[in-house]
Amino acid sequence: MSSLPKTMKAVLIEKTGGTEVLEYKTDFPMPELKEGEVLVKNEFIGINYIDTYFRTGLYPLPHTPYILGREGSGTIAAVGPNAPFDLKVGTRVVYMGSYAYAEYTPVASKYTIPIPDSIPTKIAAASCLQALTALTLIREAHKVEKGDWVLVTAAAGGVGLWLCQLLKAIGARTIATASTPEKRDLAKQNGAEVLLEYHEGDQETFVKKVKEITGGEGVAAVFDSVGKSTFDASLGVVARKGTMVSFGNASGPVTGFALGRLAANNVKLVRPTLFNYIYTREEFQQYAAELWNFIEKDKLNVQIHDVYALHDIVRATEDIEGRKTTGKLLLQP
Ligand code: NDP
Repeated sequence: MSSLPKTMKAVLIEKTGGTEVLEYKTDFPMPELKEGEVLVKNEFIGINYIDTYFRTGLYPLPHTPYILGREGSGTIAAVGPNAPFDLKVGTRVVYMGSYAYAEYTPVASKYTIPIPDSIPTKIAAASCLQALTALTLIREAHKVEKGDWVLVTAAAGGVGLWLCQLLKAIGARTIATASTPEKRDLAKQNGAEVLLEYHEGDQETFVKKVKEITGGEGVAAVFDSVGKSTFDASLGVVARKGTMVSFGNASGPVTGFALGRLAANNVKLVRPTLFNYIYTREEFQQYAAELWNFIEKDKLNVQIHDVYALHDIVRATEDIEGRKTTGKLLLQP
């Protein structure tokens, strides 16, 4: 680590709260590597809605000060003891982990993989956590089959656009919701077949519409990331023996759910996280390879909303939380 600087740029929080707790520092101490870790010099850092949950305290902070951010891409600047042989200084990699909102990030090697030559570093960062979430959801939370009807909420967001494209690629039929006509158009351009407005306050009409579209059956699966404000209506459109996949809390967490409600249609309820689907390095590599294959063969569109400077973190965060964005937001240190 001798040629590395002693300090680096980073965005950290000392306490939970609004965007005012985000602190941009230029003199944060360089991290030290532990066994099996590599140090990545970030070129692109991905913003994800989960960063908001940590900053606001919805998900507990492991410690303070805490550097937010869970994914990035760049090159390996140093290798800790017992890192795998394919991770060498200079290797171009993409990773998932913690402490990504920084110039350098220490990452467990099982969550760090080399980027194929055909994938630019920027595209790798923009097609990691959100894209892998979409892919694992349609493979494992509910294995979607060709011809299945599914419902996707927040369909023009980061995960949402990946879901629309991947579902189209496997021949499923997507009903999608998003908050504005522009976002709904974008979801349609990315593979959704039927676009609907949100149903807050009028669940009955929404359920009726989805039932009409699906010949009275309802959908085989719902992929709901909005949480509190959409959960009830989403559950109401799941077909008999279908799956309600609740994987996010953008409008707040779902609480007070009565299990007996699932009996009405023998619905399976799943609340998954990506990190439990790609727990091992082999799982990460396998899903990343499958994703990159989709991107290349099916010409998937890696939709990048904007690339912000790391010091512009407050504006970037306000944009995603203010529902002003579509697709992926990236940071550059
Ligand atoms: P997005 O780019 O999708 O941004 C969030 C979107 O949520 C907004 O664009 C907005 O779209 C919608 N939304 C609905 N209600 C609200 C609200 N009250 N406040 C703000 N936004 C709202 O983010 P990501 O792609 O990063 O994440 C999407 C969801 O998936 C999040 O809930 C996230 O937590 C979840 N997720 C879960 C993972 C897991 O492992 N379980 C992994 C990755 C993401 P619109 O305006 O159209 O409603």
